[in-house]
Parts: sequence; C-alpha cells; structure tokens
Amino acid sequence: MSDESMVQPGRWNAGLPESIFTKGAPGRRGLTFPRWDGEPVAADLPAGMRRAEPADFPSLSEPEVMRHFTQLSNLNHHIERGMYPLGSCTMKYNPRVNEQIAALPGLADLHPEQPVGDVQGLLAALKLLEESLCEITGFAACSLIPAAGAQGEYLGMFVIRALHLHNGHPERAEVLIPDSAHGTNPASVVIAGMVPKTLKSRPNGRIDLDALRAAVGPRTAGIMITNPNTLGLFENDITEIAAIVHEAGGRLYMDGANLNAIMGKVRPGDMGFDVVHMNLHKTFSTPHGGGGPGAGPICVTPELQPFLPGPWITAGADGGFTLENLPGRDSAAIHSYYGNVGVCLRALAYILRCGGDGLVRVSECAVLNARYLLSQLRDILPVANADQCLHEFVASGVSWKNEFGVRTLDIGKRLLDYGVHAPTIYFPLIVEEALMVEPTETESKESLDRFIAAVRAIHREAATDPEVLHGAPHTTPVGRMDEARAARQPDLSWLGPCNCG
Ligand SMILES: *Cc1c(COP(=O)(O)O)cnc(C)c1O
Repeated sequence: MSDESMVQPGRWNAGLPESIFTKGAPGRRGLTFPRWDGEPVAADLPAGMRRAEPADFPSLSEPEVMRHFTQLSNLNHHIERGMYPLGSCTMKYNPRVNEQIAALPGLADLHPEQPVGDVQGLLAALKLLEESLCEITGFAACSLIPAAGAQGEYLGMFVIRALHLHNGHPERAEVLIPDSAHGTNPASVVIAGMVPKTLKSRPNGRIDLDALRAAVGPRTAGIMITNPNTLGLFENDITEIAAIVHEAGGRLYMDGANLNAIMGKVRPGDMGFDVVHMNLHKTFSTPHGGGGPGAGPICVTPELQPFLPGPWITAGADGGFTLENLPGRDSAAIHSYYGNVGVCLRALAYILRCGGDGLVRVSECAVLNARYLLSQLRDILPVANADQCLHEFVASGVSWKNEFGVRTLDIGKRLLDYGVHAPTIYFPLIVEEALMVEPTETESKESLDRFIAAVRAIHREAATDPEVLHGAPHTTPVGRMDEARAARQPDLSWLGPCNCG
C-alpha cells in the first residue's frame, strides 16, 4: 500500500528511520555461510536448551538490513562523515588496517581464561606495545590494564600513594592541580584517597612558579599536569616545576591523554615526570566518543615499577612469556585480565604502521593544522592566552555574545548544519565562552578550509540573523535537545516517544 507521507522530500535525509522490527516480510532472509576449517564448527545443543519455536524476529533480506544499518550509522555525526574538531579529544581518522588486525581470528577469538601457552602471540604483541609506549614516553615500565584515561589517572595516583605509604609518609596526600586541568584529574585524586589542591594559572596560561613554591610542603604527594596543557600551550618551565616538586618530596604525574602535539618530539620521562598515562583511544587512533571501549595505560619510572598491579607480562629466557600475578599487588585490581586487548592491538598496529618517523610527522601535522586554523580564524575567534598553539587552541566567543547575543553553544550547534561536529565548548573553565578546537593531523587542507568557511559563514549569520543560530541545528534528524533531560531520562525505545514525563 502506498502512502504519500512515505515520500516527502527531505524526509529521506532528516527523518528517523523506521524501526527494523516493522520492516520486511515473512520468508525474506540473507545468508552468510559459517567459517569452515575442516572441523565441525558447532556442537549440537542439548535438546533441553533448544528453542521450541522460531524466534519472533523480523524477516529481512540482506539489502534491507544493509540499508537500515547504513542509515542508522548516519544519524549521528562521526569522523567518517565529516570533520570532528573536538578539543582535548583527538578525534582522528582510524585506519581500517587497525580494525583488520584486531579482528584477526587468532586474536579476536581468544578466550581470556585460555592457558598462557595458547596466547603467546598475543602476549608478545602486548609486550611490544608496552615497550613501544615506554620508548615514546621515556619510561621504564608500563601497565596496559587501565580501561580509560580516568582509570589510568586513578592507577597513577594509587601508585604514587603506594610509594609514599611504603616510605612511611601517609601524610603526603595532597595533589596540586592547575586550574586549567581536565575535570577527571581532581576526581581521580579523590578516588585514590588523596586531596586535590588547585593551582591558579598565570595570565599567559602557564603554571605560576611562585604559587607552586608556596603550595608545596611536607604534605605534598605530587602534582598532576597536562603538557601541553588544556589551553594547547606547552609548560615551558617544566624542568623547573619538576625540580620544585621533587625537592619538596612529591612526584610528578603527567596527563598524557593527548600526546598528539609532542609524540616523537619530547618525552615526559625526560621532562622530569614520574608517571604518565596515555589515552590509546585518542592519540593512537582507536575511535571513541560513543561510549565504546578505551585504554589508558600508564608508564612509570623504575622507582614506581614495583607498585604496578599485576598481572605482569614477563619474558622468559626461552623467548616465551608468562603472566605473573605478584602476591599483594592485586589491591589496585581495576580491570579483569589484562586490560582492553582489542584497543591495545589497534594502538600497536597504528604505532608500527607509522613507525618512529611517522609518529613525529603525526605531531608536526597536528600542530600545523591547528596553527593554520588559528591563523585564519583569530580575527573573529580570538585566543585569550596565547600568540601560538600546539595541537589545539581555545578561542573565546565573548565578542559574539556581546555583539550578537549568540552563545558558544549556538555556534557549536550551527556547525552541525554545516556538516562539522562542534568543537569542545565551555571547557577549560578558565576561558569565558570557550571553544576548544583540535583539528588533528588527519584533516586535509581542503577540509580545514571548509571549516574556516563554515565558521565565517556562521559569523555573518550571527550578525544578520542570530535567530538561525539560536534554533540550530536545523538539518539533523533530531533538533536542539534539552541535554540535561536527554541524559537523565533517555528515550531509548524503538516504539517511539515514551510517555515517561
Ligand atoms: C579525555 C581526557 C581524559 C579522560 O579520558 P577518559 O578515557 O575519557 O577517561 C583525561 N585527561 C585529558 C586531558 C583528556 O583529554
């Protein structure tokens, strides 16, 4: 039966697709043959466990299923649709070869309870990743266990705390954190049983050395710094900062979630840090942002190595590997088995494919791209604290607010109509109407130019027709939402809007 509402122009692009449960017709099907390697592929299920009736699933042909999921995949903006300049998040294109490697049957089909003798290849790969990350960061030992950046921070804080306790200093429980820090930093300090203490930045966005000297003391456990910091600026005084903190008996933690500016250029270990965590799901290309798996390994100095939790991958004299669980080290057990292996394998594939020279080039191009955008946009989006940036910059939309009554939120939402994801907004908190832009190295000159043109077009709209911005986005399947309500009362039903108030 035909119905003209099915063919309204625009619906094709803007509408939500029909539920898959109402599509298809009995008898339609798509076939995929199971893998056959000469052995029986599946044992017969015992009769008592078999379904008596066929499941009540929709019957669809392969093209119907393909179209359905392809349509679904385009409802959200994603890096394979367009630019995604989300600051402090390093949303770079993820090479397909990473996915192919992580999906190799000899890796993807392993079971975590399999005997160590069966997983030697995997352990060799993970050991190589540990060594590569130590080489990139300038440290002695690595734990791949943390499943997220914040979990790496927690483990790093735990390890520093364990060192102070071991040395008989339970009173060392204060961790200094600059006011430009990522919000997860103070949270991780608290969860590790310590107390965060805020350090105010200087007007140029860097740490105030006098304030630091005044803040350290016998209760100092350490300092947590992001370098380059969240303003996209390098802490030039880092060796002096390290000397002040070490002299006071503290340790230095680096939040290395985004190494995109410095990989292959400088190493946290050489700057005087004692611990660093990296987000493999940012710097090393694994996609993130949809709540998918991540990995936040930490690398540490020899002094802190004994406090890393097990299991440890240990190479034997015969070239084989064992997984050792050292007694007493399970108190920081934060993840089952040995971390998110699939994410680790993607990162290793990325590192090996780029090679040392390639990683240097990644950093150089990431910085070049950010500087190009800054140079082309700073007349309408001024950058508060700096003349120059590294892999990202934080602009302020204050003049848009004062002149046109347009907020940074409106700029971000309107960018969606131009096919670009919004930059990070309202972070870091120390910049008013902040707009944090990180293009990454994987965007071409043409794509950067499109972004510049979009921001300039939106600036003109703000001057002539600000209402367009207030109501944006206009061309996405779902318009502007009450974000607090959407998070607290998500409507996840395929049956359509629920009446849950
Ligand atoms: C993303 C990020 C984090 C947190 O990482 P998660 O994996 O989201 O927990 C911490 N610090 C900085 C600087 C980040 O950009």
